This record gives sequence, C-alpha cells and structure tokens, in this order.
Amino acid sequence: MAYLGLYSLQHRGQESAGIVSTDGENMFEHKDLGLVNDVFQNEEIFSRLIGDSAIGHNRYSTTGSTFRVNSQPFLINFHGGHIAAAHNGNLVNAQILREKMEKDGSIFRTTTDSEVILHLIARSRRKTIPEMISDALTKVKGAFSMVFLTPRLLVGVKDPNSFRPLVFGRKDDAYFLASETCAFDLLGVEFIRCVQPGELLILSRDNEPESFFPWGKCKNACGSACIFEFIYFSRPDSTVFGAPVDKIRRKMGMKLAQEMPADADIVISVPDSSNTAALGYSWESNIPFELGLIRNHYIGRTFIQPRQKIREFGAKLKYNPVRGILKNKRVVVVDDSIVRGTTSRQLVQLIREAGASQVHLRIASPPIVNPCYYGIDTPDSDQLIAANMSVQQIADFIGADSLGYLSLQGLLSIDDLPDIGYCTACFGSEYPLPIHHEKKKDKMNNK
Ligand code: SF4
Repeated sequence: MAYLGLYSLQHRGQESAGIVSTDGENMFEHKDLGLVNDVFQNEEIFSRLIGDSAIGHNRYSTTGSTFRVNSQPFLINFHGGHIAAAHNGNLVNAQILREKMEKDGSIFRTTTDSEVILHLIARSRRKTIPEMISDALTKVKGAFSMVFLTPRLLVGVKDPNSFRPLVFGRKDDAYFLASETCAFDLLGVEFIRCVQPGELLILSRDNEPESFFPWGKCKNACGSACIFEFIYFSRPDSTVFGAPVDKIRRKMGMKLAQEMPADADIVISVPDSSNTAALGYSWESNIPFELGLIRNHYIGRTFIQPRQKIREFGAKLKYNPVRGILKNKRVVVVDDSIVRGTTSRQLVQLIREAGASQVHLRIASPPIVNPCYYGIDTPDSDQLIAANMSVQQIADFIGADSLGYLSLQGLLSIDDLPDIGYCTACFGSEYPLPIHHEKKKDKMNNK
C-alpha cells in the first residue's frame, strides 16, 4: 500500500523514493535514487519490507544534492529506540541549528534540513516519542508536513503555518496519512479530514487516534497554506487544504478569462498541469477548448528536473503541437505559471511553427517575483523572469502576441478557496516566516 501511495504521488518528487516498514519490533528500509518504479523493481525488495505499518517518501529537491544518502525516509536508532521520518517542506532555520549542533560535536550524514529534526529528537530529554517529536519540532521553523514511524506508533505532524498539505484517512481498521487524497483513491481509503495547522496526530497500535497542538490551536485563517499547491503542484483529482484542486483550478481559469480576455479561435492547455485551468478559460470565454499540444508522458515534469540543461531540453522533447488543430488559428495558450520563461518561449515557437496565426499566452497565476523558501523549487530572483521584466517585455521575450496573468486579488477572490490563510510570497507578498540572511543566499536545505 505504501508503494502504491508513492506511485500515485510521484508528481510530488522524482529524485528518489523509499519505504520504511515495521513489524512492531524491528524496522526495515529500502530507498534509492529514481522513480518509484525504478526503486521498487521486484518482489524480493517487497519481501524484505516486513510488517504491517510503513511510511514512504518521494524526494523533490529544491536545489542540488541529488545524493542517495539524502533519500528518505531517514531511519535512525537512538536511546529512544528506532524512528523513521519523512518530510515534505523546507525549514528556514536548519542551517543555524545545524552549525550549532556541529560545533557541539554532532555528525550529519546528509545535506538535508530534515536530518536536523532527527538530531533534535535524539537530543530531547522528554520521555515519550510524541513528546520528543514535539520538543524537536517546536525548535525548528519553516514548512514541515511530516510522518514518523516507530515500531508502535505512526505520527503525522503539520507545521503551524500549514504550508504543505497532509491528509488523514481510514480503511477498515487501518489509518493512512498522505500528502494528497489521490493516494487514498487508488487504495480505496476513505478521506477523513486534513491534518490541521500545528497538529500532531498520533496513531498507535493500542489506542484510538489522538491529537495534540504543541503550538496552540489555530483559529480562523491563521495558516499560510501554499497557494501554489492549487496552481500547479497538487494533482487536480486530489483534495488538499479542504478543497478539490480541480474545482479551484477551473475557477482560476474562469477568473483569468474575465480579467484577461483574448480575441481567439481556440483555447489550448499546456498539458497536464494547466488542463483544468484551460477548460475554465474556455467555459468562461466561450472559445472552444482543443488539444493542441500532446505531451510525452515518459519525460518527467520539466519544473521538477534539477538542472537547467535538462530542463531546457525537456521542454522540446516533451510537447508536440497538433498541426491540424493549430494551423491558421488564433490560439489562446493557458499555462499555470512562468518561472524563467524559457519553456514558454519554446512552446510559443512550437505553436507558431505549427501554423498558428496568433499566440496569446494566459497564465493562471500572478507573476512569480520571489523565490520560495518553503519547499517549491523556484530559482533566485535574478532568474525569475517576472522579477526582472515587465509583462510587455516578457511577452516580447517569449514571442507571444499578448500575455496576461491572473491577478493576486483575482486568485484570492475565488469563492471556493477555503478560508484558511495562504502564503503568496512568491507573488510579491510578505514572507509569512522571516528568512535568515544566509538562507537567502544559499537555499541548500531542501527536500
Ligand atoms: S512562496 Fe509561493 S510556492 Fe512558496 S509556499 Fe509561498 S505560495 Fe507556495
């Protein structure tokens, strides 16, 4: 089940995959670089993952360090016993904590921020595992949706800002935690609810689920949920932060059509991440939706590839225009976001070469002007095209006849967005958690 869950969450990370299981006494692990299918290739691997409880992780690194040792879940043995951890998000004070611990003699095996949490757990003087986890996590700052596994417990935790999603479900007498509900659908797990901001949810072999709120309970929109989960990152068939992604994404497309109309013959998407927004644009504008670009599914998400060269090559390999649809047409291309602008430029060129008479690019999110320090791979501002060019300059660079973005106000006015409080820092708003100066220069800590 952990394997199938990872399989349906492959879009959240493609660098490495791993599972740690337990039979109630011992713990077993298997992890490596690669996609879930590559890492779990044969029955022999599964036969070594003994037990009836497990956690898994797909790694998505925000910068560098594609090393096997950074693959998660991390499994350690300390004075409190065995514990494994898997982390989604980025800490913003890990570097400071790490330097301090290294001066005190701690030896780190990985270059990830998540290892800091395990060191803090191992150093905690508290008595029980949940108390140790809580003690460690109240010392770190940043984005962390995490799962911990011990022989007796499965613990799910979400940081008080609630940057990343974490959902809770049940099937028969088993409980499940996952980043998105699409993992539950495959397994026939019933979605119970989202893990709350700042909640520590304990699932034990012996007792009913118990919740604690080490940072106090959040009341009314006190979170900073990553709005980018709705724009791009989560799958449209998932529910995250209490709302179906598909519905929100369609409304983004509709709002975009209201704010940035275009005189055109067809609307096309950049598959797959903007399919739903493009449908919304088409509905609202009454311009027919067509499949004008075909995606090769065997190339990873360009956004997720770690190196610029692969990213640029990937865009060309990944999409093929459908000439019969595009020829002599005025085309609205709906995409979810523009980061560096290189992919958009290649796409516009491809669409023109296929015979489109006009290409109007519409973006279902506001311009990205700031990097993310909370777990989404956006480059520093000097590489973000919208941080350095006006909308018209970007349109000229990309080669589009016109370019229009969804406004931040328009995005936040979508009535189906749950009223939980959102982070919109990459669109120019204030960072919900202060970023340490050194961190700004070097985003080394990553998932
Ligand atoms: S900065 Fe942007 S991508 Fe990062 S958490 Fe905030 S909204 Fe999400």
